[in-house]
Amino acid sequence: MVDINVFGIAWQEIVNWFLAQPIFAQVLVLIGVFAVLVLAVILVYYILKGVGYLVYYLLKGVYYLLKGIGLLFYKLFEGLYYAISGKPKPQSNTETPQQAPQQQQAPQVKEEEPIVPIQKSSQLVRPEVTFCSECGSRFTDTMLHSLTETGVAYCIHCGSKKTQEYQMSIES
Ligand SMILES: [Zn+2]
Repeated sequence: MVDINVFGIAWQEIVNWFLAQPIFAQVLVLIGVFAVLVLAVILVYYILKGVGYLVYYLLKGVYYLLKGIGLLFYKLFEGLYYAISGKPKPQSNTETPQQAPQQQQAPQVKEEEPIVPIQKSSQLVRPEVTFCSECGSRFTDTMLHSLTETGVAYCIHCGSKKTQEYQMSIES
């Protein structure tokens, strides 16, 4: 019957052996060869399919890679554009130091807004030096803090009550 290891034998020997067989055996051999060919085609089909998937995912990966690189270049040139438009310095290889000051400028603007009212309120409520109207002793930090927080403080020397209205009158 069909020997799988026919590829090691010379082709002429195979033909001679094939012709020596009866018709019945020759048909069986042809069917066997045909089956092997079909199996080989199916195998090649799945191999090509696997290679196709491999190439597909490879191209997909390359696509995302190029997309990432494109995005990187876009951000890079965007940063360069703002850096050049903001500062006319022809720097080309220092992108990250140029982007750092841009990011620092934005929080600085935001920080200035809450600081201003805090400075105003502290200047209004808390002068640097305040003296007691009863005993003339200087207000301690604890008294000033209590005056700022609760609006009422008591002199630690004479015990007289101090309010913010009193403090405002002293300032004006
Ligand atoms: Zn006092």
